[in-house]
Amino acid sequence: MALLSIVLPAYNEEQNIANTVSVLSGLLEENGIEYELIFISDGSRDGTFAEIRKAAAENDRIRGAEFSRNFGKEAGIFAGLELSGGDAVVVMDCDLQHPPSAIPQMWKLWQEGAEVVEGIKTSRGKESLGHRLSAGLFYQIMSRLIRMDMNASSDFKLLDRKVVDVLLELPERNTFFRALSFWTGFRTESVKYEVQERQYGESKWSFWSLMRYAVSNATSFSTLPLQLVTVMGLVSILFSVALAIQTLVRYLAGTSVEGFTTVILLILIIGGFLMLSLGIIGHYIARIYEEVKGRPKYIISRVTDNVRGQAVGAWRAQRREHNPAE
Ligand code: UDP
Ligand code: MG
Repeated sequence: MALLSIVLPAYNEEQNIANTVSVLSGLLEENGIEYELIFISDGSRDGTFAEIRKAAAENDRIRGAEFSRNFGKEAGIFAGLELSGGDAVVVMDCDLQHPPSAIPQMWKLWQEGAEVVEGIKTSRGKESLGHRLSAGLFYQIMSRLIRMDMNASSDFKLLDRKVVDVLLELPERNTFFRALSFWTGFRTESVKYEVQERQYGESKWSFWSLMRYAVSNATSFSTLPLQLVTVMGLVSILFSVALAIQTLVRYLAGTSVEGFTTVILLILIIGGFLMLSLGIIGHYIARIYEEVKGRPKYIISRVTDNVRGQAVGAWRAQRREHNPAE
């Protein structure tokens, strides 16, 4: 029988784990789906991992790991994929804002041959105004840069084992899960869902963390900002041709005494453009630097008792052993 793995990144979610476990296991058992739940605690500072451990002790289909520090949700997702053994893997938030009721639908589409099933948001649920605005700006920037409609897409997806293996083979450190599964190009279906309200705890995103996420994803997925530098260069060349002509005409007409304002303005404008361009290029160099170092995406400090081997790499080989379906 086919196995479904559910990957749940969790950061300071101690209030949510037990509830999420009971909702998911109830639902999946009801639908007769063979499942495993994989929780990745992203360096939580509360009792999240203790809760995961407790759940794992009660139910052997639940496994989990704890990061040594907060590595971000992307890293959590990839660690979960690495640890998963299912023929299909669903990635979802552990605050149940991604409605579990969509999972049987995704599963059905997968059985019918879909290799990726995207969860598409029909509404964003209740959010504070600030959060809505910053998330809106974030998706606007992302959609432009990646040339995909990111506003409705989310990290709520089902992936076939093939796709998971492709993603795990990617050598890059800075990943953007949401767009990567699209990028792999496998046969994609979608399921619409409404974002639910968060029951316990609060959203982990602040305005600045979203902005950082936007910039980091934009530069990991697009070189458009670099091309922007060229555009700025062209604009200032056009501008300077116009000014040069004006200056020459004035010089020849003998009225070129006071040009001080122009000089100051030119220095400021060109200086600004240059520094901005350097900043953009610098950002990409930083990216290259990070990738070249080749550090792991995450470091695992603890695992639940039913996961053997602490080493990150060792999990690949062991994954199949933990597959209760085999
Ligand atoms: N999350 C994580 N690491 C982080 C931030 C968040 O693993 O650094 C997890 C979090 O526990 C949740 C999911 O990512 O399961 C989505 O986070 P959150 O609910 O805070 O975001 P929102 O739903 O408001 O976009
Ligand atoms: Mg949430």
